[in-house]
Amino acid sequence: VSTRTVYRCASAWLPDGHLATDVDVAVADGRIVDIGPAEAAREAAADDDRERAAPAAVEHLRGLVLPGLANAHSHAFHRALRGRTHHDGGTFWTWRERMYAVAARLDPDRLHALARATFAEMVLAGITAVGEFHYLHHAPDGRPYPDPTTMGAAVVTAAREAGIRLTLLDTCYLAGGIGQPLTGAQRRFGDGDAAGWARRAEALATRYAADDEVIVGAAVHSVRAVPPEAIASVAAWAERHGAPLHVHVSEQPGENAACQAGYGCTPTQLLAAHGALGPRTTVVHATHVGPDDIALLAASGSVVCLCPTTERDLGDGIGPARALHHAGLPLVLGTDGHARIDPFEEARSLELDQRLVHLERGVLPLARLVDALTVDGHRSLGRDDAGRLEVGARADLVAVDLASVRTAGATDRDAIAAVVFAASAADVTDVVVGGRRVVRDGVHVLGDVATLLAGAVAAVTEELPS
Ligand SMILES: [Zn+2]
Repeated sequence: VSTRTVYRCASAWLPDGHLATDVDVAVADGRIVDIGPAEAAREAAADDDRERAAPAAVEHLRGLVLPGLANAHSHAFHRALRGRTHHDGGTFWTWRERMYAVAARLDPDRLHALARATFAEMVLAGITAVGEFHYLHHAPDGRPYPDPTTMGAAVVTAAREAGIRLTLLDTCYLAGGIGQPLTGAQRRFGDGDAAGWARRAEALATRYAADDEVIVGAAVHSVRAVPPEAIASVAAWAERHGAPLHVHVSEQPGENAACQAGYGCTPTQLLAAHGALGPRTTVVHATHVGPDDIALLAASGSVVCLCPTTERDLGDGIGPARALHHAGLPLVLGTDGHARIDPFEEARSLELDQRLVHLERGVLPLARLVDALTVDGHRSLGRDDAGRLEVGARADLVAVDLASVRTAGATDRDAIAAVVFAASAADVTDVVVGGRRVVRDGVHVLGDVATLLAGAVAAVTEELPS
């Protein structure tokens, strides 16, 4: 007999894109088993109880309840850089040197502590699933740990403890640039060749094959870091495993120029020519893609992940979201470098940046912004059964306060717009992940997440030059 819990929601965002009030969401074994008007669901639960003799507990969720949010692109350890890279200007490339200094200081325990605290910050913000683009594979000198899955396992344990569902995007990273060896901090990213990467990825996939909360997916770091034959190998591995495949694409004009110089084509064209595009592929950033690239992406059925707060933090540019949307490409979102962790800020930036570019409002439909954070985001992470409040879906519920100073005054009709355009991560009061209440009244089950973050960040930054 399974325990059944009814979450009584003051209001909820349902799959047909409308807001319903007084909704009961019944949950058993981590899934939504019934959903409907409060009274009807209560009666159904009572019938069910008589048959199975398991009384349903009732829990109340106030505000607007959304499906669990998906963070499709994360490098958890970048959280240690927050606030530390703004003193002396610079570019993406000078920022990268700071990031490498942190990367060089991570061992399995420090990575675990930093990822655990960062993932807990995400859950507090309403994020129930994350795609961790993971390339810290080996010891700082590049030698494998005795168990080569040690660093990946540290990320998995961190996610489990933080209560977030994980897609571990195990990243192939073989070169320091086209035709260049890995140097310095990059040495620990490399597996030698695509076969070395595949052996380690296979070991991780086997280790977590029975874990319902973990998907091991594949990633190509970029066309700068992975030669074309290796891109084809990684794509073939993902195909064999039916796994998601993520890749950084055209984040910087310099990447496009290097690809043209090395291969005579754009990064998107190179990926297409080596079998790396398709419905299980998510291209990350796509900030500097052209019309031909967009047509290729759309024809392949790929997904595009934009990371607006990171792209503006790094001075990358504004991606062509309007053109991508008009081409029919699903758009999803990631907090990437974690300059902020606020899914609402990512979603509204997708639209607001386009307003600045095109001098018009309503470039992207509001429902698309919500889909980017929910159903499309989960799909990008290899989950077709999350991100919707419907029977059979995973029981991921996020309650957003409609009575905070940011959201107060919105009517039911305006609530979703108020949340997307004005709420912050701090307005998330309660989070249920797979039927388990991980955040209650703004408090995470791990306790004081700010203290966890401070300790984990200090451990990797205290000896860095400021
Ligand atoms: Zn990234």
